[in-house]
Amino acid sequence: MPVAKSDKQAEKLIRDVGHFLALGVDPAKYIADLFDVLPVLVSVMDEQGKVIVASPQHLRLSGVPSSLKSINTVAELFPAYVAERFDLPLPQAIIKRSIDRWDLSVQHKDGEVYVYDIMHRVVEQKGSDKKLILTVGVDVTSRRRADEQAINEHKSQLSYMSFHDPLTGLANRSLFYDRMHKSLSRAKRSKSNIALMLIDLDRFKNINDSLGHDAGDFFLKHIAQRLADNLRDTDTVARLGGDEFVVVLENIVQAQDIENIASKLLDSLAAPLEIQNHEIACTASIGVSLFPKDGDSIDQLLKHADLAMLRAKTLGNNRAQFYAKAMTDNAVNYLLLENDLRKAIEADDLTLHYQPQVNLRTGKISGVEALVRWQHKDRGMISPGEFIPLAEETGLIEPLGAWVLHHACERFQAWLIQGINFGRIAVNLSPRQFRQDNFERSVVHTLFETRLPPEYLELEITESSAMENAAETVEVLNCLAEAGLSLAIDDFGTGYSSLAYLKRFPINKLKIDRSFINDIDSNDADAAIAKSIIDLAHNMSLRVVAEGVERSSQSRWLIDRSCDEVQGFYYARPMPEEDLMALIEDDKRAIKRDSGIRLLLSQQ
Ligand code: C2E
Ligand code: MG
Ligand code: MG
Repeated sequence: MPVAKSDKQAEKLIRDVGHFLALGVDPAKYIADLFDVLPVLVSVMDEQGKVIVASPQHLRLSGVPSSLKSINTVAELFPAYVAERFDLPLPQAIIKRSIDRWDLSVQHKDGEVYVYDIMHRVVEQKGSDKKLILTVGVDVTSRRRADEQAINEHKSQLSYMSFHDPLTGLANRSLFYDRMHKSLSRAKRSKSNIALMLIDLDRFKNINDSLGHDAGDFFLKHIAQRLADNLRDTDTVARLGGDEFVVVLENIVQAQDIENIASKLLDSLAAPLEIQNHEIACTASIGVSLFPKDGDSIDQLLKHADLAMLRAKTLGNNRAQFYAKAMTDNAVNYLLLENDLRKAIEADDLTLHYQPQVNLRTGKISGVEALVRWQHKDRGMISPGEFIPLAEETGLIEPLGAWVLHHACERFQAWLIQGINFGRIAVNLSPRQFRQDNFERSVVHTLFETRLPPEYLELEITESSAMENAAETVEVLNCLAEAGLSLAIDDFGTGYSSLAYLKRFPINKLKIDRSFINDIDSNDADAAIAKSIIDLAHNMSLRVVAEGVERSSQSRWLIDRSCDEVQGFYYARPMPEEDLMALIEDDKRAIKRDSGIRLLLSQQ
């Protein structure tokens, strides 16, 4: 089919021919001369629709093999539907309604439908009061098809965008709900199981905060790819927002299958990725809920998977956890308390109490242990035994631990300036705090900020957390020891120490756990354990402290076995700073005596 190169060409043609017609040239003659060179339909008719001239292309439109002789009116020149379309004969429609351009679709004999861009111009001929109607038509079939295709593509792109996450290309929340609805009805019909896995990256915020959002986006894209690579095409994987993804697994037969998939996903997600010349790794925590066991609605399944996922984070990240009913029972209380604790840290509602440690040989205070307290507005004083584990699980231990360390060092330095020297301040570390990246550096920084010389600070780490990853512990402790601090193993005897490692730890002290001291004077087994710990410490040139001394008989026993130091209610309870200061004043007068040994609660 002949095609005009452009609309412009056809527009120019209708203008020029129109111009000549207006000058009074004979259309039959003039236009007939152009038939061979014009790649368009051209015709001229009068106001009544009588065709004066038509190009062969135009004649062919009628579908009848025809010549101008057999065609008299415009109605014959155009397909029949045209008159209906304008509900007026075409010449009248053109003149009365100023119709000057429209699209004409015609089915040709080969069966193909062609589209023409039809243009009309009404010309008043010079020297005549009659009007002529000039028509030019351009075949725009392929152009219209291309437009249609573009529109369809655009439409499908719009629908793609409303169901997919633009960053990762994964299904978005709407598509997830849609697919999940379908999965649930299938599973209900076939009485099969579905597993819903909620995946949340661990500490993803660090990547965003330290490397910027572009790096964060880059990371998320790769994570999405890894998820998709490790699942079947039939599984749904969606991004719910931020660093949270969800996977739906249908037709689950046994829990083991889910565990296998979860561990495959965890391994693949944990592999490091190179971003801005850094090798960055970020693990994930997965919570799993099952249909029908854990719920029969999408929201319920999501909620339960979320609780399980939080539990997985609590247990130390990089793991998958199945939902259990107990999680719902605890969750509300837990969440309330967590929220309060977060606020307490910000609002400085925490305080430190100090418990003296006494040197059994000199009877003087050889150190004080800083013990954190939380004054809760409704619940009163909450003991660390209750909120430290919560802080550990939620990660709040990091700001909390930093707060304790800073305040302990600051207070001790303030006392030193006042001429009060208790020897040393002991600060407890929780395992998570101890395993924080660059922990050593943050301790040194705190000492620098508070101007406390390192020899006055003692860090206590519990036996179980020291042994949890003993090789790593050796490294961290070495750095701390090099910085000049002293180190103590707390609650000794309650964990499972590897003596090989204990020997390698650069520590100064063992603190015998209170549970062995309780009945030390009446229970032979406890006495034997306490005695062995004292001997072990001395053989390793470590000092040994007995915790939880409440009676003079315990104290007597410890003195006889050459224990170095004691800490317990018998000597002093943990107390606020004012009481500690008052104690010093009192002690200048009152002296506590014990079995012939002068136990002075005074400074070194
Ligand atoms: P811990 O480090 O073994 O601290 C000694 C605990 O024993 C303190 O309990 C103290 O009040 C208690 N205690 C001392 N003498 C006696 C006694 O004669 N009899 C009895 N029955 N108890 C005695 P507290 O203050 O409730 O702290 C409990 C634990 O909480 C601490 O055990 C420590 O593991 C942890 N904790 C306290 N403060 C902090 C902190 O700032 N950071 C971290 N990570 N943990 C802390
Ligand atoms: Mg302690
Ligand atoms: Mg202890």
